Amino acid sequence: MGKLIQVIRGMHDVLPSDMPVWNQLEDTFRQLADSYGYGQIRTPIVEKSALFKRGIGEVTDIVEKEMYTFDDRNGDSLSLRPENTASVVRACLENGLLTDQQHRLWYLGPMFRHERPQKGRYRQFHQLGAEAFGMGGAGIEAELICLAARFWKQLELKDIELQINTLGSSECRQRFRETLVSYFRDHFQALDEDSQRRLETNPLRILDSKNPDIQSLINLAPKLSDSLSSESSDHFAELKAILDYCELPYAVNPRLVRGLDYYSHTVFEWVTETLGAQGTVCAGGRYDGLIEQLGGKPNYAAGFAMGCERLVSMLIDQEQAPARQGCDIFMVMRGDNTAPIGLKLAESLRDQLPQLNLRVQAGGGSFKSQMRKADKSGAQLAMILGESEVEAGTVSIKHLREDTAQLEFTQLEVGARLAELLGQ
Ligand code: ATP
Ligand code: MG
Repeated sequence: MGKLIQVIRGMHDVLPSDMPVWNQLEDTFRQLADSYGYGQIRTPIVEKSALFKRGIGEVTDIVEKEMYTFDDRNGDSLSLRPENTASVVRACLENGLLTDQQHRLWYLGPMFRHERPQKGRYRQFHQLGAEAFGMGGAGIEAELICLAARFWKQLELKDIELQINTLGSSECRQRFRETLVSYFRDHFQALDEDSQRRLETNPLRILDSKNPDIQSLINLAPKLSDSLSSESSDHFAELKAILDYCELPYAVNPRLVRGLDYYSHTVFEWVTETLGAQGTVCAGGRYDGLIEQLGGKPNYAAGFAMGCERLVSMLIDQEQAPARQGCDIFMVMRGDNTAPIGLKLAESLRDQLPQLNLRVQAGGGSFKSQMRKADKSGAQLAMILGESEVEAGTVSIKHLREDTAQLEFTQLEVGARLAELLGQ
């Protein structure tokens, strides 16, 4: 036997035992997004690397250090998508969805980032996300936030808090950038190596640093809120007013800057303390500049992305996981030539009772071991097809959870009888 080949580090199989939680998450979002008028979009997992370089920004951690980039057989540089927003914008531009139109879209799928794997942080992970194009007012950011809040409610997830901030317009940010650079220049020696490098490339990201040694320096840094234009502060005030009016609690976190370059005005995160260090379950905001950056006519855009693995883990921890649909009936077969008759009968029962969860014991085994499997399956009933039943054109039904007499029905009538017994 050869050595076992294992899954790639930081990537995971989802096994049948966890699938009900995933399905619950995805089905709930699917219905919710649909009810708010969001249409689903699916884009390829691989795109030209240039899309992410231009869309996310060359000097972000994602593009600098985390992308799975490779040359394909033609020598073109391609990348596995690290997130979906740039791809969605590309798809909309390419398919003419953005010409003088408003659009609400949602997506679901795997993303890839070469990060250090740890709890809640993987190299292949899944995001559920929503994007809205063509809407300039704070109302759409509020709608996206309400949608997420309703999602937590429907999933019965507790202890998720909303943090919001504004990054202002790109002009405000430019102004703030200069103030910030001059402040950190004055304290250059106190910065860590990463932050010293960022001072040249992406100074705003220094504010996002998790290094405890430079926190006090960051706390004393100039605040973006002092560099805001009146248009930017009005936009932020409008969002807060809507959230207040809708009685949606939030905290303003002036340190919230987000890792991606394309945000402007509102940014928000939903954060929980229950997951340990990787506590952000949803992140988003407004990114008006992106469409033009990717070659389209300037247009409004806002959206969010949620980390599915983190939500699944919360659902499991909070015991909100739904049970897998149980087996109703387990078919046991005895005798040499019963298999074709049993399989045909099973198919006919599935035609008659589409809701029926029927498991057929394929692969033989003694009667006793088959009955043990029937019991282990959790089924209510065992359907026994032995030589005598085959000869008589009948099946026997044995109740596995109650001590009642075994029943015998003709194969023609068993569908109707099962419907009565199982209430289907
Ligand atoms: P973080 O600060 O945790 O690295 P991020 O700012 O890189 O997050 P986004 O790009 O905004 O994250 O992605 C949105 C959400 O996707 C995150 O809030 C998180 O829930 C999830 N996510 C991001 N990266 C990963 C990952 N490597 N593994 C699992 N989930 C992730
Ligand atoms: Mg990250």
